[in-house]
Amino acid sequence: MQLNAPLDMHLHLRDGEMLENIATASAHTFSGAIIMPNLVPPISSKEEVIAYKKRILHAIGDEKFTPYMTLFFKPSYDKAFLTSIREEITAIKLYPAGITTNSEGGVSGFNVEELRPTLEAMSELNLPLCVHGETNGFVMDREAEFVSIYARLATAFPKLKIIMEHITTKESVEALEKYPNLYATITIHHLLITLDDVAGGMLNPHLFCKPIAKRPEDRDALLKVALAAHPKVMFGSDSAPHPKHAKESCGCAAGVFTAPIALQLLAELFENNGASITKLQAFISENAKSIYAITPLTKTITLEKKPFKVPSDYNGVVPIYAGKEIAYSIKEINNG
Ligand SMILES: [Zn+2]
Repeated sequence: MQLNAPLDMHLHLRDGEMLENIATASAHTFSGAIIMPNLVPPISSKEEVIAYKKRILHAIGDEKFTPYMTLFFKPSYDKAFLTSIREEITAIKLYPAGITTNSEGGVSGFNVEELRPTLEAMSELNLPLCVHGETNGFVMDREAEFVSIYARLATAFPKLKIIMEHITTKESVEALEKYPNLYATITIHHLLITLDDVAGGMLNPHLFCKPIAKRPEDRDALLKVALAAHPKVMFGSDSAPHPKHAKESCGCAAGVFTAPIALQLLAELFENNGASITKLQAFISENAKSIYAITPLTKTITLEKKPFKVPSDYNGVVPIYAGKEIAYSIKEINNG
């Protein structure tokens, strides 16, 4: 099985030692990725974008990989600033305040008029808005509650491409159908697990993430659009590394580390569900190329159906399914 130019449209690479430790896990098998800006402090200036990109390129060494940079959304960005930074970034990421790792400086309250100057400038510059769509409500309801905010934004800014990041509910899938300018990324873990896998038996901290995995019917709704490669959905791993001690601890950090085996798991998932490689290719690359209007670097990944034992950790970060056997292995990577 061959996949061309796989893209990860939602990736956390962190910074410093963690960046150095895990960047190649993505850069080895993916052609490029949308890099999330939630560092401390968040990436919010041109200088920070350029410097962070440089650190990423250093961390990936010889790998052929494009980091598509993003900016941490602030309602104070004006058109002059956005015009000056347009060449350096692929999107802007909006976090509701305090909703996930390093999102304290995010948006609270979604007053359309307050957001209008920035979002209109983004529409004019054809700069997509990526959104972590959760309210501060009950943890299982946060995403479904946020759908009304997506609707408000999509209606008020019809020319703005709004990406509903890492969707986990049937309500978000329905919104995708309803509003022409809403798109979505879907992770591999939300296609595989439900809350039962996280907390139904012994607590599994390595599957604990935000948005939290939901009900079987939600997963089924996600599977339906992902396996059909619905043209408005793209793969985005939301792979989020935390050191082992931060996961296997009291006060477990949210995030699932999937980057090194994401393609192998997707190959297995699509095969098990009778979905064709053409659909997988669209989900992993073609849809993102047309939604974002990007041309990724050439990279061909050959996968083979040969059991692969997932390592217990990658430089101190425990991946999903650590120690377990999965059906597909990477056979060859061709950068030509
Ligand atoms: Zn994320």
